[in-house]
Amino acid sequence: MLSAGLNTMSFSWVASPAATELEIVVVDWVAKLLNLPEQFLSKGNGGGVIQGSACEAILVVMIAARDKVLRSVGKKALEKLVVYSSDQTHSSLQKACQLAGIHLENCRVLKTDSSTNYALRPESLQEAVSKDLEAGLIPFFLCGTVGTTSSTAVDPLAALGKIAKSNEMWFHIDAAYAGSACICPEYRQYIDGVETADSFDMNAHKWLLTNFECSLLWVKDQSALTEALSTNPEYLKNKASQANLVVDYKDWQIPLGRRFRALKLWMVLRLYGAENLKSYIRNHIKLAKIFEQLVSKDPNFEVVTPRIFSLVCFRIAAVDNDEKTCNNLNRSLLDAVNSSGKLLFSHTILSEKFVLRFAIGAPLTEEKHVMEAWKVIQEEASFLLSK
Ligand SMILES: *Cc1c(COP(=O)(O)O)cnc(C)c1O
Repeated sequence: MLSAGLNTMSFSWVASPAATELEIVVVDWVAKLLNLPEQFLSKGNGGGVIQGSACEAILVVMIAARDKVLRSVGKKALEKLVVYSSDQTHSSLQKACQLAGIHLENCRVLKTDSSTNYALRPESLQEAVSKDLEAGLIPFFLCGTVGTTSSTAVDPLAALGKIAKSNEMWFHIDAAYAGSACICPEYRQYIDGVETADSFDMNAHKWLLTNFECSLLWVKDQSALTEALSTNPEYLKNKASQANLVVDYKDWQIPLGRRFRALKLWMVLRLYGAENLKSYIRNHIKLAKIFEQLVSKDPNFEVVTPRIFSLVCFRIAAVDNDEKTCNNLNRSLLDAVNSSGKLLFSHTILSEKFVLRFAIGAPLTEEKHVMEAWKVIQEEASFLLSK
């Protein structure tokens, strides 16, 4: 019955009732670890599925949302559908819009700034929605982020969800990176408001010790997905499916065949256990805090946005407020440090500032590595500043 060799851990959809059952179990486990609302669990209309990536997750929910609204307003309204997000939302949203046929002029990318630490302001959303409604457009999809890629900003989920609900929009939460931290009770607050969402996604392959790829997507209403994605060809017909005895995950995702991803996640959960996973996260955040303290004690540097999880956004501080020179200096520092081959960090731009991103996320990183990394950064910085 196996469609591919066991070595690839890939099973055909028909042959995988055990794999499907295990997937239902493990996604429910993680939902409970995250203390997600009951509606996201498999026992009712909701449930979770393991996707390959956060990009695929956002695409399938957008298609579900699109078809749901088009069923009530008619297919011709496609060009009127509007999507909302902030300018910090991951580019996967834009790609989903491109793939789902959403007109790009109907993608509202709402501006954020340092006053909210780059979180989306509910007032901006409300204003944009009202304007679109006046213009006869149809708001249908909102993406909120917990832990944006640039600076780990956290959007105010409850307030955004309220606006989404009163306008009958689908509310998706992208917590690809930071979702993992929310298994710790002290970080769970960052997904408060998730009860207002229609879908929630987090990548176990980013920060939860699971090999690439393993993106967990939960929805409250699985029928929205299956109504948009179901197919029923003769060659796949079987008694279990026809009697509705199994979950056909092929109708929750793009591909038909699927890897047995649940097995590796099951291994991770069984091998480490909830407490070890929590200490793993806590340790990374502790290391990031140490780095943040080192940066803030050095007058040549500044922390640019408050650290929330394990990412520190920092830079050489501007001398005499000359932003341009400062940006060039930081760019040179990034290049110099990265070409040393001793460590690798990355950058982003926030409010036109070139910002350095120091992220802790590797299983083997220890305090001594953070201290050594900081030494390399400081040395390269002094050299650049003395020129
Ligand atoms: C990493 C990330 C993504 C993209 O994840 P993929 O699984 O590579 O598609 C999307 N959103 C956020 C917030 C991320 O951190």
